[in-house]
Amino acid sequence: MAKIKKIIKTIRVDADKCNGCRACEVVCSGFHADPKWSSINPARSRIQVITDRMKDIWFPVFAGEYTPAECAGRNIYEIDGKEYDECHFCRASCPSRDLFKEPDSGLPLKCDMCEDDPPQEEPLCVQACLNDVLVYEEREEEVDEEVAQEEMEIGIKSLIDEYGLENLVDTVSRLLQKEEQTSS
Ligand code: SF4
Ligand code: SF4
Repeated sequence: MAKIKKIIKTIRVDADKCNGCRACEVVCSGFHADPKWSSINPARSRIQVITDRMKDIWFPVFAGEYTPAECAGRNIYEIDGKEYDECHFCRASCPSRDLFKEPDSGLPLKCDMCEDDPPQEEPLCVQACLNDVLVYEEREEEVDEEVAQEEMEIGIKSLIDEYGLENLVDTVSRLLQKEEQTSS
């Protein structure tokens, strides 16, 4: 199987340093607004600071994959004397909660590492975090070409499951038209 080189982008999270300022949520929502910076709504952010003030808990979690079904069971973690529900750490856009969903449309949100235009030296949330909670790292890995293709297929299939093939095709056509108008 053919191998391709892939840059693996990572944000290391030093959760103990997080003070819950939510600057990361603010910049993420602004950067991903359409047009950019036209609105700031942390509910649209692809990073969410999980907060439980009674337990003195706050730490950032990045939006991951969409899942059509919630977990059947949930484990409890105890770390440094604090109790965490498994959902605290979960990155999924899942039917059991509102987290990582676009508030108006309900569309799943996923962190894209700010791979957008204009290209960023570091993701916006990393730049905004003044407490060094978020540290950006890159490394190169060789992966099977087929695996990269599979990742894309899984993403597209989850959107078809959620919105139906017809709606998805309509949306892609609209986006293509918009793209053509912008570039002409
Ligand atoms: S910007 Fe940094 S310190 Fe502030 S909430 Fe986000 S991760 Fe925590
Ligand atoms: S890396 Fe970019 S898209 Fe991901 S959470 Fe941070 S600001 Fe949002």
